[in-house]
Amino acid sequence: MPTMNCRFHCCACDAHFASLSAFDAHRRSEDDERVCADPETVDKIKLLGEASCLTGPTRLDGVKVWGLQLTEAAERRLASMARAPATAAGSAD
Ligand SMILES: [Zn+2]
Ligand SMILES: [Zn+2]
Repeated sequence: MPTMNCRFHCCACDAHFASLSAFDAHRRSEDDERVCADPETVDKIKLLGEASCLTGPTRLDGVKVWGLQLTEAAERRLASMARAPATAAGSAD
């Protein structure tokens, strides 16, 4: 599955997510702050396995990548909160 690589890297806690929905699920609202939760403690997030992080200046292999399912509309809404890989700009599939 190509979507298993980290495409939405959390700049705050350096966790790796294959989807924005997974990224969002580890960001909790506490008062007016959004804080990171450990992905292992979030029910909606599951470990997809070890894959690669494509978001940094250099590719990282063998990192834990997390994921879950969400609608496309919800993913778009969340898109501004995650850092996406530069190589993904303008590419669909
Ligand atoms: Zn985080
Ligand atoms: Zn990453």
